[in-house]
Amino acid sequence: DSDPTLRPDPLPEDRDRALRPQTLDDFVGQAEARANLRVFLQSARQRQEAMDHTLFHGPPGLGKTTLAQIMARELGVNFRMTSGPVLAKAGDLAAILTNLEARDVLFIDEIHRLNPAVEEVLYPAMEDFELDLVIGEGPAARTVRIELQPFTLVGATTRLGLLTTPLRDRFGIPTRLQFYTVEELNHIVSRNAEKLGVRSDPDGAREIARRARGTPRIAGRLLRRVVDFAIVEGDGVVTRELADNALTRLGVDQLGLDGADRRYLSLIAENYAGGPVGIETLSAALSESRDALEEVIEPYLLQQGLIQRTPRGRMLAQKAWAHLGLPMPKPAGQ
Ligand code: ADP
Repeated sequence: DSDPTLRPDPLPEDRDRALRPQTLDDFVGQAEARANLRVFLQSARQRQEAMDHTLFHGPPGLGKTTLAQIMARELGVNFRMTSGPVLAKAGDLAAILTNLEARDVLFIDEIHRLNPAVEEVLYPAMEDFELDLVIGEGPAARTVRIELQPFTLVGATTRLGLLTTPLRDRFGIPTRLQFYTVEELNHIVSRNAEKLGVRSDPDGAREIARRARGTPRIAGRLLRRVVDFAIVEGDGVVTRELADNALTRLGVDQLGLDGADRRYLSLIAENYAGGPVGIETLSAALSESRDALEEVIEPYLLQQGLIQRTPRGRMLAQKAWAHLGLPMPKPAGQ
Protein backbone atom coordinates (compact mmCIF):
# COMPACT_ATOMS: atom_id res chain seq x y z
CA ASP A 1 0.00 0.00 0.00
CA SER A 2 1.12 3.57 0.41
CA ASP A 3 4.75 3.71 1.57
CA PRO A 4 5.19 6.04 4.56
CA THR A 5 8.69 6.96 3.46
CA LEU A 6 7.19 8.57 0.37
CA ARG A 7 4.62 10.65 2.30
CA PRO A 8 5.41 14.14 3.56
CA ASP A 9 4.47 13.41 7.18
CA PRO A 10 7.33 13.41 9.70
CA LEU A 11 9.11 10.13 10.49
CA PRO A 12 11.78 9.45 13.13
CA GLU A 13 14.47 9.26 10.45
CA ASP A 14 13.86 12.94 9.64
CA ARG A 15 15.66 14.05 12.78
CA ASP A 16 18.55 15.00 10.58
CA ARG A 17 19.62 18.11 12.44
CA ALA A 18 22.68 18.42 10.25
CA LEU A 19 20.57 18.96 7.14
CA ARG A 20 18.21 21.58 8.58
CA PRO A 21 19.03 25.09 7.43
CA GLN A 22 20.14 27.10 10.46
CA THR A 23 19.77 30.68 9.26
CA LEU A 24 17.37 32.62 7.11
CA ASP A 25 20.09 32.99 4.46
CA ASP A 26 20.55 29.21 4.43
CA PHE A 27 16.84 28.63 3.90
CA VAL A 28 16.13 28.06 0.20
CA GLY A 29 12.84 29.11 -1.41
CA GLN A 30 9.72 30.78 0.05
CA ALA A 31 11.21 34.06 -1.18
CA GLU A 32 8.26 36.23 -0.26
CA ALA A 33 7.80 34.80 3.24
CA ARG A 34 11.52 35.02 3.86
CA ALA A 35 11.79 38.64 2.75
CA ASN A 36 8.95 39.66 5.06
CA LEU A 37 10.27 37.66 8.00
CA ARG A 38 13.66 39.27 7.59
CA VAL A 39 12.09 42.70 8.10
CA PHE A 40 9.99 41.64 11.09
CA LEU A 41 12.94 39.87 12.74
CA GLN A 42 15.22 42.87 12.35
CA SER A 43 12.57 45.26 13.60
CA ALA A 44 11.91 43.12 16.70
CA ARG A 45 15.64 42.96 17.39
CA GLN A 46 16.05 46.72 17.07
CA ARG A 47 13.04 47.44 19.29
CA GLN A 48 14.23 44.72 21.69
CA GLU A 49 10.67 43.48 21.87
CA ALA A 50 9.07 40.10 21.29
CA MET A 51 8.26 39.60 17.62
CA ASP A 52 4.60 39.45 16.68
CA HIS A 53 2.86 36.08 16.81
CA THR A 54 3.38 34.23 13.54
CA LEU A 55 1.27 31.54 11.90
CA PHE A 56 2.74 29.25 9.23
CA HIS A 57 0.24 27.32 7.18
CA GLY A 58 0.64 24.92 4.28
CA PRO A 59 1.12 21.21 3.50
CA PRO A 60 3.45 19.08 5.65
CA GLY A 61 7.19 19.06 5.02
CA LEU A 62 7.54 22.57 3.56
CA GLY A 63 9.62 24.02 6.39
CA LYS A 64 7.24 25.41 9.04
CA THR A 65 9.17 23.93 11.98
CA THR A 66 12.47 24.85 10.39
CA LEU A 67 11.44 28.50 9.97
CA ALA A 68 10.23 28.67 13.58
CA GLN A 69 13.62 27.41 14.78
CA ILE A 70 15.39 29.89 12.53
CA MET A 71 13.29 32.71 13.98
CA ALA A 72 14.39 31.85 17.53
CA ARG A 73 18.01 31.64 16.46
CA GLU A 74 17.89 34.94 14.57
CA LEU A 75 16.22 36.59 17.57
CA GLY A 76 18.80 35.11 19.92
CA VAL A 77 16.15 33.57 22.18
CA ASN A 78 15.13 30.11 23.40
CA PHE A 79 13.02 27.82 21.24
CA ARG A 80 10.30 25.82 22.97
CA MET A 81 8.28 23.31 21.00
CA THR A 82 5.00 21.53 21.62
CA SER A 83 1.94 20.56 19.63
CA GLY A 84 -1.83 20.92 19.75
CA PRO A 85 -2.67 17.27 20.53
CA VAL A 86 0.01 17.07 23.26
CA LEU A 87 -1.50 19.93 25.29
CA ALA A 88 -4.37 17.99 26.86
CA LYS A 89 -5.20 20.33 29.76
CA ALA A 90 -5.08 24.07 30.35
CA GLY A 91 -2.48 23.41 33.03
CA ASP A 92 -0.12 21.83 30.47
CA LEU A 93 0.00 25.06 28.50
CA ALA A 94 0.14 27.21 31.66
CA ALA A 95 3.23 25.30 32.81
CA ILE A 96 4.99 26.00 29.52
CA LEU A 97 3.96 29.66 29.37
CA THR A 98 5.09 30.46 32.92
CA ASN A 99 8.50 28.98 32.16
CA LEU A 100 9.18 31.16 29.12
CA GLU A 101 11.89 33.79 29.29
CA ALA A 102 11.46 37.25 27.80
CA ARG A 103 11.01 37.21 24.00
CA ASP A 104 11.27 33.40 23.70
CA VAL A 105 9.70 31.63 20.73
CA LEU A 106 7.03 29.07 21.63
CA PHE A 107 6.25 26.81 18.68
CA ILE A 108 2.91 24.97 18.66
CA ASP A 109 2.67 22.47 15.81
CA GLU A 110 -0.77 21.29 14.61
CA ILE A 111 -2.29 24.26 16.37
CA HIS A 112 -5.67 23.52 14.76
CA ARG A 113 -5.90 20.50 17.08
CA LEU A 114 -5.85 22.44 20.36
CA ASN A 115 -8.44 21.48 22.91
CA PRO A 116 -10.90 24.42 23.34
CA ALA A 117 -10.12 24.72 27.07
CA VAL A 118 -6.43 25.09 26.23
CA GLU A 119 -7.18 27.56 23.47
CA GLU A 120 -9.06 29.77 25.97
CA VAL A 121 -5.85 30.06 28.00
CA LEU A 122 -3.96 31.09 24.91
CA TYR A 123 -6.08 34.16 24.08
CA PRO A 124 -5.10 36.44 27.02
CA ALA A 125 -1.59 35.00 26.90
CA MET A 126 -1.17 36.06 23.27
CA GLU A 127 -2.95 39.37 23.65
CA ASP A 128 -1.77 40.74 27.00
CA PHE A 129 0.88 38.24 28.13
CA GLU A 130 -1.41 37.29 30.99
CA LEU A 131 -2.67 34.02 32.31
CA ASP A 132 -5.97 33.59 34.15
CA LEU A 133 -5.77 30.46 36.23
CA VAL A 134 -8.70 28.98 38.12
CA ILE A 135 -7.58 27.60 41.45
CA GLY A 136 -9.73 25.23 43.44
CA GLU A 137 -13.18 23.92 42.62
CA GLY A 138 -16.82 24.69 43.35
CA PRO A 139 -17.70 27.71 45.51
CA ALA A 140 -14.11 28.00 46.75
CA ALA A 141 -12.74 28.41 43.20
CA ARG A 142 -11.07 31.69 42.41
CA THR A 143 -9.15 33.13 39.52
CA VAL A 144 -5.62 34.36 39.80
CA ARG A 145 -3.97 36.44 37.17
CA ILE A 146 -0.35 35.73 36.36
CA GLU A 147 1.86 38.06 34.36
CA LEU A 148 3.88 36.35 31.66
CA GLN A 149 7.08 37.40 29.95
CA PRO A 150 6.39 38.77 26.51
CA PHE A 151 6.90 35.93 24.01
CA THR A 152 6.33 35.07 20.37
CA LEU A 153 3.91 32.30 19.58
CA VAL A 154 4.65 30.56 16.32
CA GLY A 155 1.79 28.33 15.25
CA ALA A 156 1.90 25.80 12.42
CA THR A 157 -1.02 24.17 10.71
CA THR A 158 -1.72 22.13 7.63
CA ARG A 159 -5.40 23.16 7.87
CA LEU A 160 -5.93 26.90 8.10
CA GLY A 161 -9.67 26.40 7.68
CA LEU A 162 -9.89 24.43 10.94
CA LEU A 163 -8.52 27.29 13.05
CA THR A 164 -11.12 29.16 15.06
CA THR A 165 -11.53 32.79 14.06
CA PRO A 166 -10.49 34.21 17.46
CA LEU A 167 -7.25 32.22 17.36
CA ARG A 168 -6.53 33.11 13.77
CA ASP A 169 -7.13 36.81 14.44
CA ARG A 170 -4.50 36.86 17.16
CA PHE A 171 -1.65 36.16 14.77
CA GLY A 172 -0.10 39.39 13.49
CA ILE A 173 1.93 37.59 10.83
CA PRO A 174 0.02 34.88 8.95
CA THR A 175 2.30 33.26 6.40
CA ARG A 176 1.41 30.76 3.73
CA LEU A 177 4.15 28.35 2.60
CA GLN A 178 4.12 27.21 -1.03
CA PHE A 179 5.32 24.08 -2.77
CA TYR A 180 8.94 24.46 -3.92
CA THR A 181 9.99 24.76 -7.55
CA VAL A 182 12.22 22.09 -9.11
CA GLU A 183 15.00 24.68 -9.18
CA GLU A 184 14.72 25.30 -5.43
CA LEU A 185 14.56 21.60 -4.63
CA ASN A 186 17.53 21.00 -6.88
CA HIS A 187 19.49 23.48 -4.80
CA ILE A 188 18.39 21.76 -1.58
CA VAL A 189 19.19 18.23 -2.85
CA SER A 190 22.61 19.25 -4.15
CA ARG A 191 23.49 20.91 -0.89
CA ASN A 192 22.25 17.98 1.19
CA ALA A 193 24.28 15.58 -0.96
CA GLU A 194 27.32 17.71 -0.27
CA LYS A 195 26.61 17.78 3.47
CA LEU A 196 26.21 13.99 3.47
CA GLY A 197 29.47 13.59 1.57
CA VAL A 198 27.70 11.97 -1.38
CA ARG A 199 28.83 12.49 -4.95
CA SER A 200 26.01 13.46 -7.27
CA ASP A 201 25.83 14.47 -10.91
CA PRO A 202 23.89 17.69 -11.55
CA ASP A 203 21.38 15.62 -13.54
CA GLY A 204 21.09 13.09 -10.74
CA ALA A 205 20.21 15.75 -8.17
CA ARG A 206 17.76 17.31 -10.59
CA GLU A 207 15.98 14.01 -11.16
CA ILE A 208 15.36 13.69 -7.41
CA ALA A 209 14.23 17.33 -7.22
CA ARG A 210 11.84 16.84 -10.11
CA ARG A 211 10.15 13.90 -8.41
CA ALA A 212 10.01 15.18 -4.81
CA ARG A 213 6.40 16.41 -4.87
CA GLY A 214 7.48 20.02 -4.33
CA THR A 215 8.44 19.11 -0.76
CA PRO A 216 11.89 19.40 0.88
CA ARG A 217 11.13 16.64 3.39
CA ILE A 218 10.42 14.21 0.56
CA ALA A 219 13.48 15.41 -1.37
CA GLY A 220 15.64 14.64 1.66
CA ARG A 221 14.20 11.15 1.99
CA LEU A 222 14.42 10.32 -1.69
CA LEU A 223 18.04 11.42 -1.70
CA ARG A 224 18.85 8.99 1.13
CA ARG A 225 17.07 6.12 -0.63
CA VAL A 226 18.78 6.85 -3.95
CA VAL A 227 22.13 6.97 -2.18
CA ASP A 228 21.41 3.48 -0.80
CA PHE A 229 20.96 2.23 -4.37
CA ALA A 230 24.04 4.13 -5.52
CA ILE A 231 26.18 2.49 -2.87
CA VAL A 232 24.87 -1.05 -3.28
CA GLU A 233 24.18 -1.22 -7.00
CA GLY A 234 26.32 1.55 -8.45
CA ASP A 235 29.68 3.09 -7.71
CA GLY A 236 28.31 5.48 -5.08
CA VAL A 237 27.63 8.34 -7.49
CA VAL A 238 24.08 9.64 -7.88
CA THR A 239 23.63 9.82 -11.65
CA ARG A 240 20.40 10.59 -13.48
CA GLU A 241 20.01 7.02 -14.66
CA LEU A 242 20.62 5.60 -11.20
CA ALA A 243 18.18 8.08 -9.62
CA ASP A 244 15.56 7.31 -12.26
CA ASN A 245 15.86 3.55 -11.66
CA ALA A 246 15.83 3.86 -7.90
CA LEU A 247 12.83 6.21 -7.84
CA THR A 248 10.89 4.00 -10.23
CA ARG A 249 11.58 0.98 -8.05
CA LEU A 250 10.38 2.99 -5.02
CA GLY A 251 7.11 3.59 -6.84
CA VAL A 252 7.71 7.29 -7.50
CA ASP A 253 6.60 8.05 -11.03
CA GLN A 254 7.74 10.67 -13.54
CA LEU A 255 5.57 13.39 -11.97
CA GLY A 256 6.73 12.46 -8.48
CA LEU A 257 3.42 10.81 -7.62
CA ASP A 258 3.46 7.76 -5.38
CA GLY A 259 1.07 4.82 -5.04
CA ALA A 260 -1.44 6.69 -2.89
CA ASP A 261 -1.64 9.56 -5.39
CA ARG A 262 -2.15 7.18 -8.31
CA ARG A 263 -4.78 5.19 -6.45
CA TYR A 264 -6.68 8.43 -5.86
CA LEU A 265 -6.52 9.40 -9.54
CA SER A 266 -7.31 5.90 -10.83
CA LEU A 267 -10.32 5.59 -8.56
CA ILE A 268 -11.88 8.77 -9.93
CA ALA A 269 -11.06 7.73 -13.50
CA GLU A 270 -12.20 4.14 -13.34
CA ASN A 271 -15.09 4.18 -10.87
CA TYR A 272 -16.50 7.67 -11.34
CA ALA A 273 -15.75 8.43 -14.99
CA GLY A 274 -13.57 11.35 -13.96
CA GLY A 275 -15.98 12.82 -11.40
CA PRO A 276 -17.29 14.95 -9.88
CA VAL A 277 -17.14 12.79 -6.78
CA GLY A 278 -17.46 13.88 -3.15
CA ILE A 279 -14.59 13.77 -0.69
CA GLU A 280 -16.43 11.46 1.72
CA THR A 281 -16.99 8.93 -1.05
CA LEU A 282 -13.30 9.04 -1.98
CA SER A 283 -12.28 8.71 1.63
CA ALA A 284 -14.44 5.58 2.09
CA ALA A 285 -13.38 4.00 -1.18
CA LEU A 286 -9.67 4.58 -0.55
CA SER A 287 -9.78 3.80 3.20
CA GLU A 288 -7.89 7.03 3.80
CA SER A 289 -9.08 9.64 6.28
CA ARG A 290 -10.65 12.73 4.81
CA ASP A 291 -7.93 14.75 6.57
CA ALA A 292 -5.15 12.79 4.89
CA LEU A 293 -6.75 13.38 1.49
CA GLU A 294 -7.26 17.09 2.09
CA GLU A 295 -3.95 17.80 3.81
CA VAL A 296 -1.52 15.60 1.97
CA ILE A 297 -2.78 14.12 -1.28
CA GLU A 298 -4.97 16.80 -2.81
CA PRO A 299 -2.85 19.95 -2.38
CA TYR A 300 -0.12 18.64 -4.67
CA LEU A 301 -2.53 17.17 -7.23
CA LEU A 302 -4.34 20.52 -7.33
CA GLN A 303 -1.11 22.45 -7.64
CA GLN A 304 -0.03 20.19 -10.52
CA GLY A 305 -3.33 20.75 -12.31
CA LEU A 306 -4.22 17.05 -12.15
CA ILE A 307 -7.53 17.56 -10.36
CA GLN A 308 -10.07 20.33 -9.88
CA ARG A 309 -12.27 21.06 -6.92
CA THR A 310 -15.81 21.92 -7.87
CA PRO A 311 -18.88 22.53 -5.69
CA ARG A 312 -20.09 19.05 -6.64
CA GLY A 313 -16.82 17.31 -5.82
CA ARG A 314 -13.43 16.44 -7.24
CA MET A 315 -12.84 16.07 -10.98
CA LEU A 316 -9.92 14.78 -12.99
CA ALA A 317 -8.27 17.31 -15.27
CA GLN A 318 -7.11 16.38 -18.74
CA LYS A 319 -3.51 16.14 -17.54
CA ALA A 320 -4.50 13.34 -15.15
CA TRP A 321 -6.07 11.27 -17.95
CA ALA A 322 -2.92 11.71 -20.00
CA HIS A 323 -0.76 10.76 -17.01
CA LEU A 324 -2.80 7.61 -16.37
CA GLY A 325 -2.63 6.77 -20.08
CA LEU A 326 -6.41 6.68 -20.36
CA PRO A 327 -8.63 8.38 -22.93
CA MET A 328 -10.64 11.27 -21.52
CA PRO A 329 -14.35 10.40 -21.78
CA LYS A 330 -16.54 12.74 -23.85
CA PRO A 331 -18.94 14.81 -21.76
CA ALA A 332 -22.45 13.34 -21.75
CA GLY A 333 -24.72 14.58 -24.54
CA GLN A 334 -21.99 15.32 -27.07
P1 ADP B 1 7.02 21.19 8.36
O1 ADP B 1 7.17 21.69 9.78
O2 ADP B 1 6.40 22.19 7.45
O3 ADP B 1 6.32 19.86 8.28
P2 ADP B 1 9.91 20.94 8.49
O4 ADP B 1 10.33 22.30 8.89
O5 ADP B 1 9.94 19.89 9.56
O6 ADP B 1 8.48 20.96 7.77
O7 ADP B 1 10.85 20.51 7.26
C1 ADP B 1 10.87 19.19 6.78
C2 ADP B 1 12.27 18.79 6.32
O8 ADP B 1 12.61 19.51 5.16
C3 ADP B 1 13.36 19.07 7.34
O9 ADP B 1 14.24 17.97 7.34
C4 ADP B 1 14.06 20.30 6.84
O10 ADP B 1 15.42 20.26 7.11
C5 ADP B 1 13.81 20.26 5.34
N1 ADP B 1 13.56 21.60 4.80
C6 ADP B 1 12.41 22.29 4.89
N2 ADP B 1 12.50 23.47 4.25
C7 ADP B 1 13.74 23.53 3.76
C8 ADP B 1 14.45 24.50 2.98
N3 ADP B 1 13.86 25.63 2.61
N4 ADP B 1 15.72 24.25 2.66
C9 ADP B 1 16.30 23.08 3.03
N5 ADP B 1 15.69 22.11 3.74
C10 ADP B 1 14.43 22.33 4.11
